[in-house]
Amino acid sequence: ASQALAAQVVKGLEVIKQVTIDNEAELGKLDAIAGDGDHGQGMRYGATGAVEAAHRAAEAGAGAGTLLVRAGAQWSESAGGTSGALWGAILTAFGRALGDETPASPQAIVTGVRDAVDAVQRLGGATVGDKTMVDALIPFADTLSAKQAEGVPLAEAWQQATTAAQSAADRTADFVSKLGRSRVLGEKSLGVPDPGATSFCMLMRALGDADLF
Ligand code: ADP
Ligand code: MG
Ligand code: MG
Repeated sequence: ASQALAAQVVKGLEVIKQVTIDNEAELGKLDAIAGDGDHGQGMRYGATGAVEAAHRAAEAGAGAGTLLVRAGAQWSESAGGTSGALWGAILTAFGRALGDETPASPQAIVTGVRDAVDAVQRLGGATVGDKTMVDALIPFADTLSAKQAEGVPLAEAWQQATTAAQSAADRTADFVSKLGRSRVLGEKSLGVPDPGATSFCMLMRALGDADLF
């Protein structure tokens, strides 16, 4: 198993954890208006659990893919809530695509992102326009794939994907939620972007800025 790649993945998860700590209050506030107020806490609990599981897996000599699958399982467990289950699925799908042996080729990363988005849609049943994290995930994956196919270097493609996802997440402020807990609040969510789409963009921006690839 590639230890170097596993170490890179641990570093990425630590970046994610720090973002959830720094933005817990803001995400909680968003979710309090358009949901039940626990999104910041859920993300921090999930990411913290994931980092711990990743360290345990790395110490046991696990490769990057196995490490991500274990981190994903722990994220769901530690976070609870809808986004916890979905982030668990994201890490699991990405880990399966990455595998333990392969170096993290740009192609493997793009495939992993695509698989992660598919897993979220399979599990949550949301589509674009439902005012969920899917509204940010789809443009992120689409832009990343398109830029990669055009030969744009991964780091630059990642930045462009983040920009596209952020515009889409911002536009969710104009939507009324149709799924998840916030759907019962209906029009109350108008004017406020979806918390899960917002946190996704925060995490992707930080990963892109972390000099991981
Ligand atoms: P909970 O809704 O259980 O309190 P969180 O507050 O942590 O969980 O997460 C809420 C976020 O989860 C929403 O802002 C939305 O982005 C995402 N979400 C909720 N339901 C779905 C779904 N069915 N598909 C995709 N994302 C969803
Ligand atoms: Mg919530
Ligand atoms: Mg909740």
